[in-house]
Amino acid sequence: MVFSTRTSIPKTQNQSEVRDPRELKNHPVNQTIYGDMDASGDGFLADVAARGIQQEIHITPTNIVIAGHRRRRAAITLGIPEVRVLVRHDLTEENDIIEALICSNQHVRERTTEQKAREFDHIRRIEIDRGKQRMGDGGKDTVKTAGLSIESRKSRNVAAKQVGLAPSTATKASEVVSAIDAAEESGDTGKASELRETLNKNVTEAHRQIQENTPAKPDQVVDANGVPVPKKAVAAFEALPRYTAIKSAISKIKKEIYDLSQTEPGALVRYNRIKIDLENVYRSVRFSTPYCVCPYCRGRPVLSRVATCDACKGIGWGGESLYDNAPEELK
Ligand SMILES: [Zn+2]
Repeated sequence: MVFSTRTSIPKTQNQSEVRDPRELKNHPVNQTIYGDMDASGDGFLADVAARGIQQEIHITPTNIVIAGHRRRRAAITLGIPEVRVLVRHDLTEENDIIEALICSNQHVRERTTEQKAREFDHIRRIEIDRGKQRMGDGGKDTVKTAGLSIESRKSRNVAAKQVGLAPSTATKASEVVSAIDAAEESGDTGKASELRETLNKNVTEAHRQIQENTPAKPDQVVDANGVPVPKKAVAAFEALPRYTAIKSAISKIKKEIYDLSQTEPGALVRYNRIKIDLENVYRSVRFSTPYCVCPYCRGRPVLSRVATCDACKGIGWGGESLYDNAPEELK
């Protein structure tokens, strides 16, 4: 075995440096989980004014804050010209950065249930990504997809544990958070803040409320399971008649070719071969037909500016196989 005496050392050494706090940028995920952080309300600002910033702010090599969003903000507010930072060269993957960000927040603040639910959504997505990476690209599709739903259940349990909620509670809270975002997006801020308040007091009660609210207007577009389709995905489900028309056209062609093959002029038509080809075309169309609102992100695929739902590739809906392969507890 040959050991090289001098290999190129990867740049994973974290470095202590100084920065003007105004050069530092907030991480967008911090905002989506914890919201706008007002450092003045809890004595934090006064503390920084009195004692200065005690701990290094952790940042990426591109000056994005990983840990220390409130310290950055306090430093800017107080006009502190320089802060000590630790440049985290060891975190190269976005998922690792987000995980470190969440982890640092868990240690320094009391989080509301809403914040825990938002952490849960991110950690779960990260765990699903990692599960896929573990499985790699090899193996048969069926094995991979069966593995994926096991991974997905595992990811739920891992994520719930990490944020300190029971898995079923985390799932319910996550659904309520989706409803809060949907209400906010549609301009119903009253409903959003009411749900938020209930969620932070009682997850089960908030979850019951959104279930009561779900069966809404009679003209609402729903997927194959009766789940209301979010606005962004409505066009896809309204195109269903086109898919139906294509499928019946394929069936019709199949029948015409069969009829022809049974006659003298069709003596050279190889119906059995053509039948297989057409059935493949039919299957391809069938599996690309809009079937369900994505059970993983419930039609809200953009979790943050840096993370989109992997299961539906960011479109918010999917075909039959997406639904069939999703774990039961998401359905
Ligand atoms: Zn999705």
